Amino acid sequence: MSEVTATMPIPKRHEVIEAFKKKGGQVAAVLPIHYSRALFRAFDILPVEVWGPPLMDSTQAGAHLQPYVCSLVHNALSFLKTGGLDVADYLLVPHTCDSLQGLGSILLDFIRPQQKVFPLYLPRGQRTEDRHYLIRELRQLYEKLAQITQKQPDHEALLTRIRTEEQADLLLARLYEQRQQLSLNNLNFYHLIRSREYLPAEDFIGLAQSAMKEAKVAEKSKGTPVLLSGIVPEPMDVFQAIEEAGGLVVADDLACCGRRLYPAGASNDPFERLAERLMNSPPDPTRGHSIEQREEHLLKTAEQTGAKGIIFYEVKFCEPELFDLPDLRKRLKAAGLPSVTIEIDLNDPLSNQVVTRISAFLEMVE
Ligand code: SF4
Repeated sequence: MSEVTATMPIPKRHEVIEAFKKKGGQVAAVLPIHYSRALFRAFDILPVEVWGPPLMDSTQAGAHLQPYVCSLVHNALSFLKTGGLDVADYLLVPHTCDSLQGLGSILLDFIRPQQKVFPLYLPRGQRTEDRHYLIRELRQLYEKLAQITQKQPDHEALLTRIRTEEQADLLLARLYEQRQQLSLNNLNFYHLIRSREYLPAEDFIGLAQSAMKEAKVAEKSKGTPVLLSGIVPEPMDVFQAIEEAGGLVVADDLACCGRRLYPAGASNDPFERLAERLMNSPPDPTRGHSIEQREEHLLKTAEQTGAKGIIFYEVKFCEPELFDLPDLRKRLKAAGLPSVTIEIDLNDPLSNQVVTRISAFLEMVE
């Protein structure tokens, strides 16, 4: 990624990885969606997220995956098989959905890559039992990392890392609050937000502070305000398409972005605090939130930001997302918030048909 804020370049992913490794650190390639960055950093491992990547030849994965598995998983496996993840020392595969669970099993049982593979099972509810389960999962991951790295960061070291990540997430939330005053168009705003997927928290903090300093002189952006929902905004030309059609993304419900606005925790036990943060993040179907919870969250976000409609920008075959949509959209419509669903394959460039549908939707909600 090479896009820039007005005065500060966003380092490219490979530069960040090289610099981190040069200092003696290791790298974990992390599949979507939820996990704990602080836990890895406490072992001097940089988590670098893998959301596809988009626009690649995914045929290598075809031998292991059914054609109805989403393109994100196809691409991730092809990327691994063609050496794209050779730089990673570890792979983390959260049990986000059936497709990622399947990928985890294929990696562990058949492909057995050079990297150690860690699965992470996340609870599908928000009860006390779910929190306890997550705490146990995080402790187990800690034990596995301790065993393989021969390191044993104590509670204070973990809490220090957690506080740094909390500061980065606080700034992430501020960027969202000030997004209309920042000197960034939608595309560059999301390049900045998504640099959280691979930048060490301390570097992200510097970038976010720099972008906010420039906010004081910037003018408020214009366009028909909309909310973007889905898993990942790829190809990122979608922001340009929205802008050219007269739209402005004023909020998002994207799994890689807004659904990971993790609030700070309060517990002095590091594992409880990590679980608390994950459990208290915005509603997400992959974490078992109900359609009612999602409806309430989306309506509230639209009200706070002035969004006039929602673009559900979905990866084809993404079951957790597509399953909710008929009922969710019906409820939102009844509450006065129109929406459109667009399904994409991560390997297709933005088609004219998609651009036309976005334009037609923006004309309707204007
Ligand atoms: S796009 Fe959907 S189905 Fe694919 S990995 Fe993400 S959550 Fe799972």
